[in-house]
Amino acid sequence: MRSNVAEYSLTQPITLTEALQTLASDPTLTPLAGGTELMVALSAGRLPQKNLLSINHLRELRFITTTPTDITIGSGTTFTDIRYSEAIAADFPLLTQAASWTGSIANQNRGTIGGNIVNGSPAADSPPALLAYDATLTLISATGQRTMPYGDFHLSYKKTALAPGELLYSISIPRSFAGYVSYARKVGTRNAQAISKVALACLALMNEGPSSGPARTIKDIRIGAASLRETPTRCTAAEQALLNQPITPVTIAAARAALATEARPIDDIRSTAKYRAAVAANLLEQFLHSL
Ligand SMILES: Cc1cc2nc3c(=O)[nH]c(=O)nc-3n(C[C@H](O)[C@H](O)[C@H](O)COP(=O)(O)OP(=O)(O)OC[C@H]3O[C@@H](n4cnc5c(N)ncnc54)[C@H](O)[C@@H]3O)c2cc1C
Repeated sequence: MRSNVAEYSLTQPITLTEALQTLASDPTLTPLAGGTELMVALSAGRLPQKNLLSINHLRELRFITTTPTDITIGSGTTFTDIRYSEAIAADFPLLTQAASWTGSIANQNRGTIGGNIVNGSPAADSPPALLAYDATLTLISATGQRTMPYGDFHLSYKKTALAPGELLYSISIPRSFAGYVSYARKVGTRNAQAISKVALACLALMNEGPSSGPARTIKDIRIGAASLRETPTRCTAAEQALLNQPITPVTIAAARAALATEARPIDDIRSTAKYRAAVAANLLEQFLHSL
């Protein structure tokens, strides 16, 4: 049943400072960015939070800035902004890829990276890339700001480290992945408008040495995954099984086995846990063959 919109209120501050002060005076307000999660819930009669704080129009949250060492993306940056950012494409192709396969063009025009992160879905598209790239979040409130590794942000299913009165301000990624091979694949029911059944975003740096043969080993490896646990996750057991190893059938089998020990996929209407675990191992193997 649809919600009765008369039961809802929307506060629309003019500036970020005003938004933070409003949130400080009433931390129960729910931030509304692009609304592509919240408005779906509203339409379906499943939005218990009645008082919304619009941050959608705040220019201070919508930016992409580049320094020699980092790129920083405002939480209100849309997937369209990200998809067509040359700076992001040059250094962070996994993020460009994730933006391009999020929902539809309409979703990408309205949906923000901040909403994607804070919503906390284990199936969301940008988190695996952000985990692989070691992103750092900046959280902001009326009393100041703090940073934290993105890997610490998701506490459990849809629970995050965001404190009452805080907004996600920005996401920073170090520009330290030159020379890495990247691999991203999302498996869903179709190519557009489908939430992933499982997705991997991977990076690997190979040791210098002969261009082929067993002497080439993996110097660094990062595997971000969607829908493999109750939160977006790094597959650290599989990473450990691969570090400093050559790509051989034995290594690939060990990596698949390690992934099986850490995969605790969700079982839901989109797919079964068994299917998700099997497909994730196949994607990992596909990535390793690409190396
Ligand atoms: C048809 C359809 C298809 C979709 N397909 C995909 C898909 O393929 N992949 C995918 O990942 N997602 C998909 N989504 C989900 C959605 O589009 C994304 O998660 C999007 O990034 C949400 O961003 P938003 O700005 O619209 O969030 P909103 O709906 O505005 O907010 C989502 C949550 O985040 C909180 N929030 C937002 N910004 C902040 C902030 N700065 N600080 C603190 N809290 C904040 C809100 O309070 C709310 O709890 C789809 C949605 C629809 C309707």
